[in-house]
Amino acid sequence: MANMIGAMISTGRDLAGRLKRLKEAGFQCVQLVSPPEADLAGPRFQELVEVVKASGVPVVGVAAVYQGESYADVAAVRATVGLLPAETRPARMEHTKRCGDFAHALDASNLTSHIGYIPEDRDHPDYGALVKALQEICDYLAPRGQNFCLETGQESADLLRAFIGDVGRDNLKVNFDPANMIMYGTGDPVAALDVLGPWVVGVHCKDGVWPKASGQLGEERKLGEGDVGIERFLVKLKEIGYQGPLVIEREIPGEQQMADFLAGKRLLEETIGKLGL
Ligand code: MG
Repeated sequence: MANMIGAMISTGRDLAGRLKRLKEAGFQCVQLVSPPEADLAGPRFQELVEVVKASGVPVVGVAAVYQGESYADVAAVRATVGLLPAETRPARMEHTKRCGDFAHALDASNLTSHIGYIPEDRDHPDYGALVKALQEICDYLAPRGQNFCLETGQESADLLRAFIGDVGRDNLKVNFDPANMIMYGTGDPVAALDVLGPWVVGVHCKDGVWPKASGQLGEERKLGEGDVGIERFLVKLKEIGYQGPLVIEREIPGEQQMADFLAGKRLLEETIGKLGL
């Protein structure tokens, strides 16, 4: 596999220093978590763009996150995450577009996000509202050659595929996170790649364990220490012909995050070498 290896990082403290360390460690790209809304307007926008461009590290995508989101458990996710909650949807749509502008300024072709739980009932009003929201966002991004990528996890692969069909936009893609499918209990991630493969333009190399009880979420783990099975994940990516970046995600801050990025990169390289992928 000749896929680039990258890391998913915030735009927070010492961005230049973290980009430098990743580059020196051989990381070939990054995906950025979207800055706070205030940083996407005024001089801070350009400052961030200049810091990233000066690093020489390519940005493959920006992940839009929204103020007020909680991932404490299933109920909290349902109530607060993404474009599903109607009361925050208009403001979050605008934030999503500004994140698309930020990605464009960084020459990144992919904007990703958790849009919230897609209702299983395709006649539910929230289902139609999400379809309409995604059409609007895709149409905003398309003239610049950008994709909107649905982050996997909160729904089954079959539901996600049906939703993509209903939105009906060629630039609606998938950012595949195998750990999320396990942590949300929505299905085996390797089997899901057989369903979603044609739409996958980005992957998160992340690990996690299944939830212990209904209504809870499983916990994230350091790559290689959860239930994903990194060997079978990489084998399946090779099998479906995935050629995009392998972006390591680790949902902890600080020095331990950097240490786990480095360990994750070694694990990916060793596994690819061992299996001759
Ligand atoms: Mg992810």
